[in-house]
Amino acid sequence: MLFNSKKKVMFSCVFFTLVMLIFAKNISLLNGKNSINITAAPLENIVNKPTGKDVSSKKYYIVLDPGHGGIDKGTSYGNMEEKNITLKIAKYAKTYLNGKGNVVFLTREEDKLLALDEIGDIVNSSYADAFVSIHVNSLNDKDFKGITTLYYDLNGYQKEERVKLANSIEKECVKNDGWESRGIRRQNLAVLRYSKIPGVLVECGFITNEEDRKRLSNEKVLKKLAENISNGIINYLDESEK
Ligand SMILES: [Zn+2]
Repeated sequence: MLFNSKKKVMFSCVFFTLVMLIFAKNISLLNGKNSINITAAPLENIVNKPTGKDVSSKKYYIVLDPGHGGIDKGTSYGNMEEKNITLKIAKYAKTYLNGKGNVVFLTREEDKLLALDEIGDIVNSSYADAFVSIHVNSLNDKDFKGITTLYYDLNGYQKEERVKLANSIEKECVKNDGWESRGIRRQNLAVLRYSKIPGVLVECGFITNEEDRKRLSNEKVLKKLAENISNGIINYLDESEK
């Protein structure tokens, strides 16, 4: 009787352990499923990003947003339209970043208009490390020139990172071709407010200023600017990995 009840206790223990193991496995499966559902990325080229930072290869995932598109031309001067300039810069940046082994997703690859919340959804479901929206400035005062990088932190959200990213990009942007730096500025913009990852908006010079306009109509300058923006992103990400 004593032997039997010992056996019973042992059996109960084993049974209990097995139940717990199966139960625990189900919970982790459920959690795994849930986390996949929550963060599911619709972006084909970013969806396979491994979880955690891929430190060994220094491979980053970056979303670039060429401002405006389609019926929204952005600012313009003569036949120069912001939507075309931003797309060129973004494509040059993508090529450069890809060449360094990074994965880049452009919110648009062609001349089409995306709703701001659509851009927000792309950014937030992308798994990306950073987000940069590219624009061109304009002003009635034709003397205004130079590059400004804008950031926004909602209630201090990622403030430190966003300021760092903005500073890093602004610093690199003005390295070539005589661009003037107008510094970084905090501005409440929807495209930055919706972003859950560190993101900034670069205003790549003033189309209304003669010197900036000359730069913006020169492919070599646009390419160099794109590379400098890219280096600003990489430098920030390298720094934040340390
Ligand atoms: Zn714009």
